[in-house]
Amino acid sequence: MTGLGLLALAPLRLRPPVLRPPGAREDFLARCIRCGKCLEACPYDTLRPLGITAGANAHTPYIEPLTTPCYLCHERGPDGVDRPLSKFLRCTEACPTGALRKIENDKEVLATLPEELRIGVSVLQEELCLAWQFDVCGECYYNCPLKDKAMMDSPPYLAKEGGLRPWVNPKHCVGCGMCNYVCPVREEVAQARMQAPLSLYEARYASMVRNLLGRAGPGAKLPAVRVLPRT
Ligand code: SF4
Ligand code: SF4
Ligand code: SF4
Repeated sequence: MTGLGLLALAPLRLRPPVLRPPGAREDFLARCIRCGKCLEACPYDTLRPLGITAGANAHTPYIEPLTTPCYLCHERGPDGVDRPLSKFLRCTEACPTGALRKIENDKEVLATLPEELRIGVSVLQEELCLAWQFDVCGECYYNCPLKDKAMMDSPPYLAKEGGLRPWVNPKHCVGCGMCNYVCPVREEVAQARMQAPLSLYEARYASMVRNLLGRAGPGAKLPAVRVLPRT
C-alpha cells in the first residue's frame, strides 16, 4: 500500500472503538444500513447516532453510559424487582438486517451471553472505589441488572469479611453501563460545592470523592467503574 493509502486509513484506525448496542455482530458496520429502527425501539433513548465526523461510522448507533446506560429492557418496580418489558431486547428485535442479533430478554440468558453479544466489559478500579477505600456506597453492585453474576460483592480471591467489595466478573458482565452511570466518583461531584445542586447520594459522597481524586492526582480515569468497548 502506498504511503498516501496508509495516511487515508489512519483516521479510521485511530478512532477509539465505541460501545455498540447489544447483539452487535462482528460485521456490524457492513450490515447496519443506518435506518435508526433500533434508536426508535429503545424505551430509554439509550441509543444515539454517531455524527458525520465519525466517517464510515456516521449515523450508526452507540451507547454513552455516563448519559444513558442500557437498561436491558427491564424496569425496576417499587418492590425492587426488575421485570422485562418485552420478550426480546427491543433494539435487537427491531433491527431489519441482523446487524444486531435478536436476543431473548431473560436475565439468565443475558448473563451467559457468548462474547459476540456483549456491549463491552466493565473494569473497576479499587483504588478509586468508595466501597474498597471507605466502606460506603455499593451503588454499582445494587444497581447492576445482573447483580451477583456480573457484579459480585467481593472477588473470589478475597476472604469475605466486613463490608461490600464490588468486583466485576468479566465472564458475565454484558457492559450495559449501569455501574458507570450510578458511580459517584466523578469530577463534577468532586468539584460541586453549594452553587451546584447535587443529588442526595452525590452530596453524601462528595467529600470522600474529593479525597480519592486528591490521592489519585490528575489523569485518573473516571468514574471508578467504567465500561470498555469490545475490541
Ligand atoms: S436493550 Fe433495550 S434498553 Fe438496551 S439499548 Fe436495546 S432497546 Fe435500549
Ligand atoms: S456493566 Fe456494570 S452494571 Fe452492567 S452488567 Fe457489567 S457490572 Fe453489571
Ligand atoms: S459505584 Fe463506584 S464508588 Fe460506589 S462501590 Fe461502585 S465503583 Fe465503588
